[in-house]
Amino acid sequence: MIKPLPTLALLAATLLTAPLAVAQKTYVQCGRLLDMRSAKAQTEVTLVLEKGRVTAVQPGYTTGTAADKVIDLQSRTVLPGLIDCHVHLEHETSKAAFLQEFTQNPADVAFSALGYARKTLLAGFTTVRDLGGSGVNVALRNAVNAGQVVGPRIFTAGKAISGTGGHMDPTNGYREDLMGVPGPAEGVANGPDQCRQAVREQYKRGVDLIKIASTGGVLSVAKDGSSAQMTEVEIRAVVETARDLGLRVACHAHGAEGMKRAIRAGVQSIEHGTLMDDETMQLMKKYGTWYVPTITAGKSVADSARIPGYYPPLVTPKALAIGPKLQANFGRAYKAGVRIAFGTDAAVYRHGVNALEFQYMVEAGMPAYEALRAATVSAAELLGESENLGTLEPGKLADLVAVDGDPLQDIKIMQRVRFVMKQGVVYRQE
Ligand SMILES: [Zn+2]
Repeated sequence: MIKPLPTLALLAATLLTAPLAVAQKTYVQCGRLLDMRSAKAQTEVTLVLEKGRVTAVQPGYTTGTAADKVIDLQSRTVLPGLIDCHVHLEHETSKAAFLQEFTQNPADVAFSALGYARKTLLAGFTTVRDLGGSGVNVALRNAVNAGQVVGPRIFTAGKAISGTGGHMDPTNGYREDLMGVPGPAEGVANGPDQCRQAVREQYKRGVDLIKIASTGGVLSVAKDGSSAQMTEVEIRAVVETARDLGLRVACHAHGAEGMKRAIRAGVQSIEHGTLMDDETMQLMKKYGTWYVPTITAGKSVADSARIPGYYPPLVTPKALAIGPKLQANFGRAYKAGVRIAFGTDAAVYRHGVNALEFQYMVEAGMPAYEALRAATVSAAELLGESENLGTLEPGKLADLVAVDGDPLQDIKIMQRVRFVMKQGVVYRQE
């Protein structure tokens, strides 16, 4: 992964908060430390940080020399930075969202995205997977990494891929003379050759992973939200090409048939998974496929659909039918033993309240520790970043958040993050 230079990252922090002293080492004194290696919190320990990484965990509250920095989190619980495996930083839900496709230039999208990225980071999400936009998300990742703007560490899929009229066809719902014939470069691919080209087009643009849609979706202006929209041969072509290029594949799917094709073809994650049946769950366990539930998005689209005129007429019934099913389905998948990584589909609801998902996961029957694990250890594994992210122990990146109280007792606490550090730089301190 690309790492920002520490000096530029510090510069980014100064744009947001008071200037930080340049210190050789940072001593973070933690009242409680939930390092996510186990459910047992350590009390009264100090994390020693150097060059953006954890170098030691010391018992008691320790300090270094006068040149070193001390951060007092003695009254708080400290956890690894949170990871949301499904966001879209270019957009945000609104009644005007469908029209904005015609009115916003890439620069407009970029300026909005800056605000969404900042909100996400300040909510404690130090790393995200951006699962699809116009390509501005690639530029945003680069700007964050260069320390030019404030945001979470981004792993981006660039432009997502599906067939003509599929969930990711950017011209769905357009007037016919405006539709044109979008092709692989625009993420519209038919047949295995075009699928290979579509993956390579995204690779050329510098993406970190590939996103496809093997079924219909809720917010595309099309009739069916769950039918299969890519053949297994097409999905296989995507997965094999991506694998050659060192990229993983995330697959949007609501209907079971589209999920099964994608799982058999070897995608790393199923996003939403709304109508997952028992057979699909068993298949996911067999293949080790991750499930990224996005319950928050499901609830949000159902709420918005009840506001008259919020969505185009083709979208409203899909939002009402599919949205509310996600939470119960998540509960079943968890009980069945499917591997779960935290993801919310931020943009479908307002950015910055990603931690609501924890509450919904716990409501559906997942213990609080498991929900936190999904957003740390498991999400890091799905990203292929377990060496750097997911726990707080020597060698890991210094991404950490702090909350008041004990999130294992009350998971809602995660919605009120008080302290955020990314790679050793403080972005929020209350
Ligand atoms: Zn999404």
